[in-house]
Amino acid sequence: MSELDLITRSQVREQATWLEIDSSALRHNLAQLIGCTVPNAAILAVVKANAYGHGLLEIAQCLHEQVSYLGVASIDEALALRRFEIETPILLFGVPRRGAVDAAIQADVAIAVSSVEQARDISQRAQLIKKPATIHVKVDTGMGRLGIPKSSALESIGTIAHLDGLELEGIFTHFPQGEDDSFTRDQIQAFCDLIQMSSQRQIRFAYRHAANSIGIVNHKDSHFNLVRPGLTLYGLYPSDTVKRKLNLKPVLNWRARILLVKKLMPGDSTGYDRTFVASEETTIGILPVGYSHGYPFHLSNKGEVLFDGRRFPVIGRVSMDYTAVNFGPQFSEANAGEVVTLLGRDGRDTISAESLAKKAETIPYEIVTRINPQIPRMVV
Ligand SMILES: *Cc1c(COP(=O)(O)O)cnc(C)c1O
Repeated sequence: MSELDLITRSQVREQATWLEIDSSALRHNLAQLIGCTVPNAAILAVVKANAYGHGLLEIAQCLHEQVSYLGVASIDEALALRRFEIETPILLFGVPRRGAVDAAIQADVAIAVSSVEQARDISQRAQLIKKPATIHVKVDTGMGRLGIPKSSALESIGTIAHLDGLELEGIFTHFPQGEDDSFTRDQIQAFCDLIQMSSQRQIRFAYRHAANSIGIVNHKDSHFNLVRPGLTLYGLYPSDTVKRKLNLKPVLNWRARILLVKKLMPGDSTGYDRTFVASEETTIGILPVGYSHGYPFHLSNKGEVLFDGRRFPVIGRVSMDYTAVNFGPQFSEANAGEVVTLLGRDGRDTISAESLAKKAETIPYEIVTRINPQIPRMVV
């Protein structure tokens, strides 16, 4: 049934690097999110960007029966889910390229609409192929990116409601931040007002939604009847406040096998530009992972990996396909073929995406979404 080439435990023995997706952690996080969502709100699991780098089909396979909706950024992601025979409703956040609108309608993918013009296009296509298109109107209440500006939203919704071939299933908005209470509250208020005014004009939406992860945790009045968690589903925290309020488990463990173990003598260096020079005799391991795999270059001489439940530093520059780890002068237990953890748990210790993000001066979203999609994912 699938194009998904799930690797098995025995095949892992042959992999240089792979991701283990912890399905029980994923279920745990979903339960945590359901626990802090108002009772009448359904869940839209955000699986865009290859499910935040975790693997679109692997994650969808674990989640699709437990959520009401899946959210993707591109039509290709939506169609990949349908090819994988996932029948859960899908909302496409992004704007489909012109030729892809038909495919979205045919595949029962709901489309987010950010302008009357876009709605007109979709309406035309729907009438041509004689199948109604499901749309969710996106309103810009402060994000300043996609969405109909709130000042003209009521009028635009009135126009869109009269177009043929469209089913106005949803209305939604998005938060640029979730910590600043007054800004988010104003957004929620503007969104509520719009829903109410639409309703006075007999325009009602089956789904009304606004909350991303931060919104779910910090603003219960933004839950309406659907919430859209992304990062938190994967066990990552968008902010420290969220960390205090939710107990999540990381879903992703990134492992690699040591390619080669060697000794450096005092004065020997490793990697480009010789940014690490040994001051004493030491044992290093070369890992088959570099920035082309999504391991950040900015972790050069800063990152850490876990081996045998202990932490060891990344030394020298992270290169395109290799990274060196310093096992130290005393340590001689590491052998080629043994497994290190670049991200996630080993024994009692964990390397979190948040900690790597801090060191690499980025955000956890970027750490996980940049992991190369060609690296095999294994659901455990
Ligand atoms: C990415 C995204 C989300 C999820 O955001 P998180 O901060 O990862 O929870 C929700 N809604 C929309 C429209 C998005 O693009």
